[in-house]
Amino acid sequence: MRLGVAGALVGGGYRKGDVELDRETGRVSAVGVAAPGSGLAVPGLIDLQVNGFAGVDFLTADVEGYRHAGAELARTGVVAYQPTLITSDPEQTVAAIAIADKARSCPGGARILGVHLEGPFLSPRRAGTHPAELLRTPDVELTKRLLAAGPVTQVTLAPELPGAPELVSFLVRRGVRVSCGHSDATAAEADAAFDRGARLVTHLFDAMRPFTHRDPGIVGAALTRDDVAVGVIADPSHLSPEAIRLAFRAARGRVVLVTDDLAAGGCPDGTYRMGAVEFTVTGGIARRGDGTLAGTTITLIEAIRNACAAGIGWETAVNAATRTPAGLLPGEDVGLLRPGDRADVLVLDDSLTVRDVLHHAGSADR
Ligand code: ZN
Repeated sequence: MRLGVAGALVGGGYRKGDVELDRETGRVSAVGVAAPGSGLAVPGLIDLQVNGFAGVDFLTADVEGYRHAGAELARTGVVAYQPTLITSDPEQTVAAIAIADKARSCPGGARILGVHLEGPFLSPRRAGTHPAELLRTPDVELTKRLLAAGPVTQVTLAPELPGAPELVSFLVRRGVRVSCGHSDATAAEADAAFDRGARLVTHLFDAMRPFTHRDPGIVGAALTRDDVAVGVIADPSHLSPEAIRLAFRAARGRVVLVTDDLAAGGCPDGTYRMGAVEFTVTGGIARRGDGTLAGTTITLIEAIRNACAAGIGWETAVNAATRTPAGLLPGEDVGLLRPGDRADVLVLDDSLTVRDVLHHAGSADR
């Protein structure tokens, strides 16, 4: 089957020509095929930080909720994601991880890569929307319980907290990706975590010590290291165009676009919940009662378009939601669209609007 596109993003670079998929094997069989049509094929998108979508909050979702959210995510072009759980009571988090584990085996919709635990080992000084009374200091025993509950693939923590260095090393040894965030860490404290194997920063600039020239914090440490990727929320309510450009220029090939979506992702304005936190969405911007920003309602393809609107080239922007996150997911066949790769593919028009989504489990036509 041919897609009828003029070109494709293959392994991170533009390749002129059509793309051919093998329906039987669910793999890409050829790229650069002659007789090009119109539009662009890109790999299916990967969202490493999504708290909920289409009315579903992953902290309280059941398997049916996951099925609905996964189908709706797939319609927006996301083929693989990490349901992200904000700080909660440990019993609730354990139960939510177990549900995500069950939901993982449901066919159809976007694939669950594993759970991203955003908390509870975060700084009370940079808690953002996380319930401050439920934050904890790093605790290996509690972490073992959380990991035993199901497939945890990423933990966001504040590296300056007592016990954090040991917890970073423990998680890295267990093969769990460590991301630094919701943190007041100095650059030295961040560097110590990166030296121990932390490889990512959670929503760069947001909920962390601000960069200054004598106190560069996580921002300065991460942007100047080649071995650390940075998560970026390309939403105008979160980051200015200058901040988005700064991240992409300083961290070339290391920016990972995330949505940080709430249950209100892809939904109209209204009042929603994320765990114990109630928030209101007005004009697409989600805030808690006290005015604190509470994640977003954007889709990942909108984040890509927002990055382009800030001046980022389309190839770079799409790579930040495909190839770069794929580089953090060893063993996962996602994000590249080379011959032989899984046929998870989006067809976009010239304005980067999704025309069609095809993924391994079948087609989710719009
Ligand atoms: Zn956050």
